[in-house]
Amino acid sequence: MSQPSLTSGGCLCGNIRYESPDAPENVHFCHCTMCRKISGGPFAYLAGFKKGRLRFLTGEPAYYASSAKARRGHCPVCGSHLTFEYITPEAKHVYVAGGSLDRPDLAPPIKHVGASTWLSWLHLEDELERGE
Ligand SMILES: [Zn+2]
Ligand SMILES: [Zn+2]
Repeated sequence: MSQPSLTSGGCLCGNIRYESPDAPENVHFCHCTMCRKISGGPFAYLAGFKKGRLRFLTGEPAYYASSAKARRGHCPVCGSHLTFEYITPEAKHVYVAGGSLDRPDLAPPIKHVGASTWLSWLHLEDELERGE
């Protein structure tokens, strides 16, 4: 296994490991109801890699078609949520669940999306843009 880095990650059990030559981009929090359900948290933390630039070193996610336009990948062994991607031709990124990165401390979010379904009891003091 390569050294843990900003561009590597994997699931809880280690069945799936991934790596990219690039740093994650468009890192964000998503407050939509689907991300909430699949993550189990009040919002999801997602880090983007350009399609074709994220490589699975071991294992393969199992995919769930969360809509006609998107799929979400998880580890079939431990259940960790690992990926979110639009499968439309114009989609540019595969997002990994940010918590699966080896160094999430080096991947700060740049914005919030899905703000219309932000939970009213969730109070965050960051200055990040909050949009849809
Ligand atoms: Zn696993
Ligand atoms: Zn979402």
